[in-house]
Amino acid sequence: MRSIMPKPDFILWTGYHQLKNQLKVSFQMSWSELAHSVLTEASLRSRDDTPHVPNKDRDQDWVLSIISNLSSTIRHVFPDTKVYSALGNHDYHPKNQLPAETNAIYEQTARLWQDWLEPESQETFRKGAYYTERLLNRTGFRIMVLNTNLYYDQNMETQDAEDPAGQFSWMERVLTEAADNGEKVPVYVIGHVPPGLFEKKRGKGWFRPGFNARYLALIQKHHAVLRGHFYGHHHTDSFRMLYAPGSTTQSDTKSPLGAIFLTPGVTPWKTTLPGVKDGANNPAIRLFEYDTETLQVKDLVTYYLNLSRANQDQAGWEKLYRLTESFQVADASPASMQRVLERVATEPCVLQTYYRFNSVSYDLTECDAACRVDHVCAVRELDYQMYERCVTEGAAEATVAVTTVVPLAISLMVFSCC
Ligand SMILES: [Zn+2]
Repeated sequence: MRSIMPKPDFILWTGYHQLKNQLKVSFQMSWSELAHSVLTEASLRSRDDTPHVPNKDRDQDWVLSIISNLSSTIRHVFPDTKVYSALGNHDYHPKNQLPAETNAIYEQTARLWQDWLEPESQETFRKGAYYTERLLNRTGFRIMVLNTNLYYDQNMETQDAEDPAGQFSWMERVLTEAADNGEKVPVYVIGHVPPGLFEKKRGKGWFRPGFNARYLALIQKHHAVLRGHFYGHHHTDSFRMLYAPGSTTQSDTKSPLGAIFLTPGVTPWKTTLPGVKDGANNPAIRLFEYDTETLQVKDLVTYYLNLSRANQDQAGWEKLYRLTESFQVADASPASMQRVLERVATEPCVLQTYYRFNSVSYDLTECDAACRVDHVCAVRELDYQMYERCVTEGAAEATVAVTTVVPLAISLMVFSCC
């Protein structure tokens, strides 16, 4: 990473890990994914011990030792860089069961990260593993680091809670203050488990339905101050659009309020989620460019490690793509990401490009009609009911397209490929 950006502005490490440079750059990668990156850098072919293992093979000390090792590595590589850090669902023992109250892992992680956390942040981190600070200590710029593992549907600790660890109330307070602050303080939000649904498995949402609806309503309400949403967890490269409540499923009639960026993992992990075929990825990290005055995301560049070449002792981070070049958009604003979505939805070659990037150039097969529906509806609809409608309508359209428009689709693939 240091060879790509030796002096980033800051690092966001949440289930991700991001770095920013003066004018405008940030890397993004996953917390537990970063754990893998350290292991893989040390010994790419011989190690396969990762945090994504059964509970019987791990314990609390093992989880804490990984957090400690990674924190030391980041400090060593980027000693002068501010790091904003959050936990992923594998950064706890037992996995996914992150509680809504103080516990040994939150306590000890807050101590491990004390150089990176302001005193107030340490307080809320100990309580629920979330915090907010002024971004780079600049007045008028804010960052919120969330513990969205509290909303994860695999988390039995929080299943009956209305507002686990009081994080929703706290978010409401922080964002209301940001909005009330006259000039509308721009805010970045980062977390590990994202809202919405997984694009590689139809109907697979991550948050419990009530939490998803509440989270969505909250970011819709405060969209004016939210300039960037950054998540991981999927291990895949995708994004999500945020629209006003009650918008129709026709995205071209919608005015986007925001875009959520999902950065692929460093971990080349093949998912064990039932129903996902060959869901793996090459390791990736991402560099963001942003406007330092508005925090508007201007562009993103994804770098990847080609594992086939790495296994021939030719390891090295290579550029995979730059958003504005590959999708022919002006920037990474919500309006531009809407344009990317429209192109993915309607132009077969753009869909194929997106699909290749989705697995970080691992899955080079064709994204067929059903695959297109899965990806487009997941990107377009954060709301679970709207997603179901989108999938139903999309599946019906796909059936018609397959029976009547196949020759046209083939000719589009041939003549308009990017
Ligand atoms: Zn995860």
